[in-house]
Amino acid sequence: MLNIVLFGPPGAGKGTQSEKLIAKYQLIHLSTGDIFRANIKGATELGMLAKSFMDKGQLVPDEVTIRMLESEVNKYPDAKGFIFDGFPRTIAQAQALDIFLSKRGQSLSAVLSLEVKEDELRQRLAERAKSSGRPDDANPEVIQKRIDVYKNETLPLKDHFTAQGKYKGINGIGEINEIFNSLCAKIDELK
Ligand code: AMP
Repeated sequence: MLNIVLFGPPGAGKGTQSEKLIAKYQLIHLSTGDIFRANIKGATELGMLAKSFMDKGQLVPDEVTIRMLESEVNKYPDAKGFIFDGFPRTIAQAQALDIFLSKRGQSLSAVLSLEVKEDELRQRLAERAKSSGRPDDANPEVIQKRIDVYKNETLPLKDHFTAQGKYKGINGIGEINEIFNSLCAKIDELK
């Protein structure tokens, strides 16, 4: 059973690499950002709530995010494992994830972190804005807010996962396939 957190700042390539990893390892991909965006599209109550935070580059409150993620995990009782993309983003979320997995008799296998410098992130997000249709990519102030929120609220998880011996840093700059191969090498070490 592989339960992997793909960790890293906005624009690090988590979505791109998740798509490749799920195909190779037959894992379920749970991206909290994608789930929120699907809810916005469907004009659900959750979507409307999430949008009010996402448009400002802020995190959706833990209580809402954790409840949503747990119900998604529970949709897949027979999963071979999960790739969590964009979750956890706070210590409370990390603790909740441990609890959900332990209820299934499982645990987190590793946290693979795509490390990319801030200048590169800003450039990538501005480039992505041309095709993503994401309002939070289109505004440089919102991009900066997301990077700052990452540094202040999410990066502390690096120490948390390092203390658990689960954090593995990967250079997130270079060719997509080269980065993918580095991720696969780390995953294959876990088996
Ligand atoms: P992403 O698609 O991962 O870049 O996420 C887009 C936005 O969705 C973020 O800027 C947050 O507003 C929200 N979001 C996604 N995942 C989470 C999370 N785990 N906790 C709180 N907010 C989240």
